[in-house]
Amino acid sequence: MISSKIASNIEKRLPDTNDSDTILDKATSLKELGLTVEAVAEYGKLFTTGCDPAKIIPGLVACLSKTNSPAKMITRIEEMTKQYKLSSGRLSELRLYLGLEMEKEGYQDLALDVYKATAEIDPKNKHIKQKIDQIISKSTPASRYDYLIHKGLVTPEQLRKALSASKSTKESVEFILTQQFRLKKEDIGKSLSVFYGCPFKEFDPKVPVPVELIGNLKKPFLLHDLWVPLSWGKDGVDILIDDPWDLRKTGLIKGLTKTKKINFCVGIKEDIAKFISRFFEKKTEEATQDMIAELDMIPDISFEEEEEKEEIVMTEEIDETSSQVVRLVDQAIITALRKNASDIHVEPSPITNKTTIRFRLDGVCQEYMQVPNSMARGILSRLKIMANIDIAERRLPQDGKIKFRRKGIPPLDLRLATLPTAGGHEDAVLRLLAASGALKLDEMGLSERNLQVMKRILAQPYGLILAVGPTGSGKTTTLHCALGYINNPGVKIWTAEDPVEITQAGLRQVEVKPKIGLDFARVMRSFLRADPDIIMIGEMRDNETASIGIEASLTGHLVLSTLHTNSAPETVTRLLDMGLNPLNFSDALLGVLAQRLIRKLCSNCRKEYHPSLEEFEALAAEYGKEAFQSANIEYSPKLVLYRPSGCDACSGTGYKGRRAIHELLEGTPAIKKLIKNEAITDEIFLQGVGDGMTTLKQDGISKVFLGLTDIGEVRRVCID
Ligand SMILES: [Zn+2]
Repeated sequence: MISSKIASNIEKRLPDTNDSDTILDKATSLKELGLTVEAVAEYGKLFTTGCDPAKIIPGLVACLSKTNSPAKMITRIEEMTKQYKLSSGRLSELRLYLGLEMEKEGYQDLALDVYKATAEIDPKNKHIKQKIDQIISKSTPASRYDYLIHKGLVTPEQLRKALSASKSTKESVEFILTQQFRLKKEDIGKSLSVFYGCPFKEFDPKVPVPVELIGNLKKPFLLHDLWVPLSWGKDGVDILIDDPWDLRKTGLIKGLTKTKKINFCVGIKEDIAKFISRFFEKKTEEATQDMIAELDMIPDISFEEEEEKEEIVMTEEIDETSSQVVRLVDQAIITALRKNASDIHVEPSPITNKTTIRFRLDGVCQEYMQVPNSMARGILSRLKIMANIDIAERRLPQDGKIKFRRKGIPPLDLRLATLPTAGGHEDAVLRLLAASGALKLDEMGLSERNLQVMKRILAQPYGLILAVGPTGSGKTTTLHCALGYINNPGVKIWTAEDPVEITQAGLRQVEVKPKIGLDFARVMRSFLRADPDIIMIGEMRDNETASIGIEASLTGHLVLSTLHTNSAPETVTRLLDMGLNPLNFSDALLGVLAQRLIRKLCSNCRKEYHPSLEEFEALAAEYGKEAFQSANIEYSPKLVLYRPSGCDACSGTGYKGRRAIHELLEGTPAIKKLIKNEAITDEIFLQGVGDGMTTLKQDGISKVFLGLTDIGEVRRVCID
């Protein structure tokens, strides 16, 4: 220990100045020498300077804590601050750091006191407020009202009064707190949420009635027990309850809902009762219209294995006349329509004993719900009845059409295909044939060059235009866009389709029926006798149809058709392989448009990011280095791409809607010459590129740079 005499000598030798850095140095040196009293005095001087509190407070606390209890130390610092006339801003700044220092030392309570006292003199300080909330939310409260008490929103005395009032009026304590003590429901909710560690939910008249969930529950029972199911979701069932920690109730709920995936929300008695009353009042008076609105609420949970096996033994199969099956089928179809699904798949599994119903949304299948296999036969029979096909035939595939007409939804046609599957089951696939109009050619998302070429070839009086790609790549939609562009009262347009999915005024549309011999070739021949200008033929499946198509195009008609080929250049070789006359074909060909559908990033939640140079160069390499240079995309700090995220609007997938990517080969003189010489695909490809064709992948990558999609989607559909 240094004697006080030496200490005063040292102090004298240290510079005496008002410069805050020098004072700080002096304070630090004194502290390190163990001269705490002197150091404290120097730290005090720093209060009035602009010196950063982060540099003052820790040192000061270290000095004072040597001789004081933590509480005493706070008092000492408070006293010191009073000596200097500090602005309230400076004062709260210093106290904030004092609080932080106390938290560091593990004195949460003292820190909270410091923050609270500061909040009184500086109520607008956000940092202080944050710290208070943090400490309160971290500490585990012992009662559901602790948060309210901590925040000083209610006193223990008031709480006692509310409790006794609650006993006599049968109203909840929370309700009385809002009514008599003017507490905000929001604060009460926070308190309950903090205590139970789950979300708080108040009454909301907009919550749809969960018809499927409350079907087996009785209103008086729920009112007595004070809980109510609110909704089904991917993550399970949401239950609103007054006490999520009541094991008797939660156990009962788990038993009743037959699922382990339950999410509890806490609510106050009066709100729960309001939900119950509303759900049950609606339930009895519900109109069809409203029922439809609730259909999205159908459970998609799994039934538990054990119970299901029992069910098979104990109960008989549910047949197609049961109201459960009828309703389920209707609900599945309506929900699929609402979700804009293109197909519904019904798949009974002999392994899990469950029947999965899946929807195809934007080209990708998603599970919609599962039901026990005991319902599968009923569902299949019901679908067969609706499609008017043989209900007793279960060993052979069948197909048919369903005209689905229900109040409140647009008329809908579906194509049903049934197939016998393993385990003595039958699968069903329903294609939704939404009667829709055609897009405009300009809205198809064609690149500038492709749009120009399309308009040019569509303006020709005769010739052949093909849209190619695998099933479900949007070929028919594209042809309808093209027809829409050239459709006018001056021309006669015949179409042969299987089936007619898109209708347009002015078009004469024929649906082929191969079963009765009305196939594409036959319809085509009839068209030629029916004075057409333009003919659209659904598909050139065989040599005969293709030959008639080419003949028609050479005799003065514009013929549009589709083909199942992968790329535009490959189409040419495929048609020649089918035995078409190369001379006729080369004369007829105006252009081939290959396409794929990619999912569009959900514009509501897509996330912007700046790609690294490596990522950029990988994309450029995938595009083809040389070709990329003419694509005019440069790497710059401003360059942004997007990646999928997921929100309610896109059911959490990150994608919403689809867009086509294209590869358009124009029948230029050079291409026609190659066809005449029966050139190989590679030669046609090279000539096409020379004529300005971009490949599917290149078009896709351009759309990545436009922020419409991501490279993953492009890779998914473009297989090299
Ligand atoms: Zn989204």
